[in-house]
Amino acid sequence: MKTVAVHTIGCRLNQAETALLVNRFEELGYHPVPFGHPTDLLVVNTCTVTEEAEQDCWRAVRQTLRHSPHAIVAVTGCYAQTGRDRLRQLPGVDFIIGNQYKMQLPDVLHWAPRWKKRLKPTVLHSPRLDRAQFMQPGVGRYQTTRANLKIQDGCNFRCAFCLIPTARGRERSRVMDDALREAEQLVARGHRELVLTGVNIGRYREGDLDLLALIQRLERIAGLERIRISSIEPTTIPDGLLEYMASSPKLCRHLHVPLQSGDNAILQAMRRRYMVRDYVTWVERAAQCVPGLCLGTDLLVGFPGEEDPQFANTLAIAKELPFAYFHVFRYSPRPGTAAARLPRRVPPAVIRERARLLNALSRAKRLAFYQTHIGQTVRVLVEANDKHGVMTGLTDNYVKVGIPGDTPGSNQLVTVTITGVTDGLALGQLQVGAQRPSRTLRIFMDYDQTSAWQRLQLESEMVMTSSIGNKRADV
Ligand code: SF4
Repeated sequence: MKTVAVHTIGCRLNQAETALLVNRFEELGYHPVPFGHPTDLLVVNTCTVTEEAEQDCWRAVRQTLRHSPHAIVAVTGCYAQTGRDRLRQLPGVDFIIGNQYKMQLPDVLHWAPRWKKRLKPTVLHSPRLDRAQFMQPGVGRYQTTRANLKIQDGCNFRCAFCLIPTARGRERSRVMDDALREAEQLVARGHRELVLTGVNIGRYREGDLDLLALIQRLERIAGLERIRISSIEPTTIPDGLLEYMASSPKLCRHLHVPLQSGDNAILQAMRRRYMVRDYVTWVERAAQCVPGLCLGTDLLVGFPGEEDPQFANTLAIAKELPFAYFHVFRYSPRPGTAAARLPRRVPPAVIRERARLLNALSRAKRLAFYQTHIGQTVRVLVEANDKHGVMTGLTDNYVKVGIPGDTPGSNQLVTVTITGVTDGLALGQLQVGAQRPSRTLRIFMDYDQTSAWQRLQLESEMVMTSSIGNKRADV
């Protein structure tokens, strides 16, 4: 049986597609192995959002050929779509498969006339990408408790920094019945939480039906406990979504809404479709409408023309709004985008420093958000062991909770009381089932001899203590 390793770079949509590719490889008789293990076949599912993502592809190929020199290498995804000619220069690549043919990749490779490394790569690429509604055969194969559900692809917005419309084409939605079919099969495989993914999922349409209609249909699937929306553009959030989220038993109180910049001139230069005031108004409404909402955002630093005052505006709004976290991206010019031609580039060292400031702020915001949960009893979907050997899981509003003691296995929904928080983790005390006496917040006399988990507990106690007189962390 041939082995296949798939390395995924980039977004959640790529992860969803990788899961479908792996499922198809299994149907064809391949044995999936983790990336980094010796393999007969390497598939790199690439991203082109940043230069770094492209370099990651080169690294993955070189690294694999060191331990598996005879492995057939296939590169697909957004970099294969936009960087086909650069990829031809990468030694050891046998197939370059653009996005139009990405989902046929397992069959293309399996039925290829000869299983041998090639002197020159075989290229399957079309600059034109489908525009019609689509079906996506198969069921994604996931090792994780949460599964992604691809519902949409492509984007008609042309933000000045973004190559995705070139890489993935015009916006198109998945046939609703086909999305529901995969969702049912994922639930039948045991997944209790689905994350809806696409490039611009707020633009999901089937006739008169929009994203909210799709969510309402998904909610009817028995055994599906949670539906989570991945990133959604601020101008595309369907009417009524917030109100629905506030009362729905399944739709998670979590929204990731990219802001990118807190400065109007920069937003305009980026060709974003809103002004800062519009975004702030929406956030105020969302916070009022959905108690406990976890609001995340993307911030892009170092866009051309971002001087200190413009960055100060971003920093100010990032502090002021009730974000629970941000993802910070450092601008790098992508050939083929409008922004690549703009003057007034920001020096890399300045970009690094701005990203560092925002990342530090994001950590503080996350801690402050977690602190608001101390004393609350919440439901956690147990997912995995974290690096401290503790079972962890997520609340519907995206708080990562560590549960000590004899916790139920992964994929269980449990009730816990949040007893403390530490950087990036809340601590939960199990409320039901066989439960050991609480070991949280014990006083440890000898810090050095405590385990990693005990140290976490101790640190959480410190955080809790400091939060008593200061309800929210100083962000
Ligand atoms: S909305 Fe803008 S940033 Fe998002 S995929 Fe479309 S063009 Fe890119």
